[in-house]
Amino acid sequence: MNEFELIRTYFQRVATRRVDVVLGIGDDCALVTPPPDMTLAVTTDLLVEGVHFFAGTAPAALGRKALAVSLSDLAAMGAVPAWFTLNLSLPRADAAWLEAFSAGMFDLARRYNIELIGGDTVRGPLTVGVQACGFVPNGRALRRDGARVGDRVFVSGELGDAGLALRARRGELSLAATALATVNERLDLPQPRIEAGIALREIANSAIDISDGLLADLGHILERSGVGARIDYERVPVSETYRQILPLVGWGVALANGDDYELCFTVPAGRLENLANVRSRLGCQVTEIGEIVAGRELIACDSRGIQWKGEQMGHDHFASEP
Ligand code: ADP
Ligand code: MG
Repeated sequence: MNEFELIRTYFQRVATRRVDVVLGIGDDCALVTPPPDMTLAVTTDLLVEGVHFFAGTAPAALGRKALAVSLSDLAAMGAVPAWFTLNLSLPRADAAWLEAFSAGMFDLARRYNIELIGGDTVRGPLTVGVQACGFVPNGRALRRDGARVGDRVFVSGELGDAGLALRARRGELSLAATALATVNERLDLPQPRIEAGIALREIANSAIDISDGLLADLGHILERSGVGARIDYERVPVSETYRQILPLVGWGVALANGDDYELCFTVPAGRLENLANVRSRLGCQVTEIGEIVAGRELIACDSRGIQWKGEQMGHDHFASEP
């Protein structure tokens, strides 16, 4: 199988056909027509074997996750997904692997009406790069720099299960079979919060998706907005599975491990009622965990006001470099 057969067989099939794609895969560039009065939201992510996913990860899960992490970025801006490109570095052209990988990816693409419009395919260490584009009405994007003193801090879904799965895979934690299956699914198949992002456009002041851990990612909102926050970390939503082993693992995994791909966002007190009104459109639960305060500090306390002291504040690829 040569490069062109590979592209034609596995990536040129039309999972989603959008009217705004003038020309898709097959030419030097794709041609697309963005709608008027919309701002284009553009994001890209690179997943490297051995760094972002374990060697031997099931190809369907990898294909799905590669797109899911970019969809999560679109969700965090309140964008409606439109198009994506796929950069693939493959050690070999393995038909069964490619079949499963593309099936996993297209499965999610169909669900969010996002069309694959191009990419690049090379031989090399297994690496998957997705660039995704979406639309957001002019001036309505959810940014990191909009949090204001008095806003309430919320998170979507539940945090920590993906971190538990990572620890289990590294052999640092042993879990019962059913618990392991639950947390593995959270790590392999994150749910991009697209519906929530869109519904929150009129309500939230700021938003970010949690890819590096709640404390680190909320920290990015604080830094960009020039504010501080005080959160009650015991209000951070965790799964039943997590709660059962909370005495063993503590809150650190839920607070500081990434890969959950939930949203963290802030809502002005005056719009809390609006949030209550759109709850049915969010597609997930949302939980208030604290408040934006003056200053620059992120303070995480338990319900008695005792501060949480964890040294791990999220994942930073270059943290150990001089
Ligand atoms: P070029 O030489 O102009 O870079 P290529 O031969 O790399 O073109 O690719 C041919 C066509 O196939 C282009 O339209 C490109 O966008 C598309 N393509 C290549 N790899 C992929 C991929 N992994 N997924 C989707 N489209 C791809
Ligand atoms: Mg090329």
